[in-house]
Amino acid sequence: MTRSITILGATGSIGASTLDLVRSNPDKWRVGALTANCSADELARLARAFGARLAVVGDETCLGDLKAALAGTTIEAAGGSGALRDAARIPVDMTVAAIVGCAGLAPVMAAAERGGTIALANKEALVSAGEILKSAVERSGATLLPTDSEHNAIFQCLSGNSIADVRRIILTASGGPFRTLDADQLKTVTREQALKHPNWEMGAKITIDSATMMNKGLEFIEAHHLFPVGLDKIEIVVHPQSIVHSMVEYRDRSTLAQLGPSDMRVPIASCLAWPERMQTELKPLNLAEIGQLTFEPTNETLFPATRICREAIDAGGAAPAILNAANEIAVAAFLDGQIGFMDITAVVESTLSKYTADAPGTLDDVLHVDAQARSYAKEALESHALV
Ligand code: NAD
Ligand code: MG
Repeated sequence: MTRSITILGATGSIGASTLDLVRSNPDKWRVGALTANCSADELARLARAFGARLAVVGDETCLGDLKAALAGTTIEAAGGSGALRDAARIPVDMTVAAIVGCAGLAPVMAAAERGGTIALANKEALVSAGEILKSAVERSGATLLPTDSEHNAIFQCLSGNSIADVRRIILTASGGPFRTLDADQLKTVTREQALKHPNWEMGAKITIDSATMMNKGLEFIEAHHLFPVGLDKIEIVVHPQSIVHSMVEYRDRSTLAQLGPSDMRVPIASCLAWPERMQTELKPLNLAEIGQLTFEPTNETLFPATRICREAIDAGGAAPAILNAANEIAVAAFLDGQIGFMDITAVVESTLSKYTADAPGTLDDVLHVDAQARSYAKEALESHALV
């Protein structure tokens, strides 16, 4: 039986991993829509190669290039934020939500309102609008499958068990490239050093988030929304090898872990085939070769991001959306050479202290808070500017 699939954010790292799995099972999948922000040529190449029905660029100014690149095909082309939402509304069996940042929220909401199965990689959508997104999923009867490797691991470890029996969820963190540095060294790390993750190849934003540990903080909030066990039952442990992707401890003290190579195709494959399993040709895990799996506590003095995230979700209301927006601005500024590495979390904290808002109740409320928080974060950038 063939199933239809739409990939929101098809030109990114998660998009590429997903399409690689589709490519190895071509008779199983029919591609609905593929989307990107602007990379029109790359998107057109993928749309042609996978026989997509529709290709959409979020940035409308790139639509002309997309149309030109798709000339002579029957693939429909569209552009703009409305077109992204429309693409998410096309009925398909599986929607892979792999746009980076809050930009992915409105399309994910559109998919959630429609129903069907959503493989969610776009953690920022859940951080900014957790309750709103979950209500949409509940109303439509959609199925949300966690694709982030840790959350996919937890989802697998929970299978066949009752969440009421969970004593602790243990999120593992690689610790990023700067895990062993001291405060002085951290002040001078460069963009290039931060972009080299020891274990994973990912898009630029999440790679920087991994270096600051903001990624784990966002994942803490993501876990809270996906697995309602209570914030005090979610812990983070640093595991530099990234082989144990997370764990669930039950009240009888049994702890279940999911292990696998550091390759996002593993959790994505688990979502694509769920509730079954699919064959992949990835290199199997060789534990004897890896030799050691080690664990250590997080260092929140040097890497305050997990504390900031815990405080934001504890505060509730608009705080997580503000945190996420400020982090997106700060990471972009770091990548652009405007601020130093340690300023990223400082800008986030400063934004959270200057801007508060009522708990958003709708998608529009979240988008408003997101836009406001971005202005505050841009102001905060000025006091941290390098020049
Ligand atoms: P990426 O930067 O490689 O790709 C992002 C995709 O989103 C691209 O297709 C890009 O064109 C599109 N996009 C970017 N801005 C957009 C906008 N404003 N409007 C519309 N489309 C836009 O990112 P990635 O590493 O693939 O990550 C995607 C999401 O998955 C993120 O939320 C990330 O946190 C999450 N995730 C990624 C990994 C990984 O290994 N890469 C692992 C776990 C979770
Ligand atoms: Mg992760």
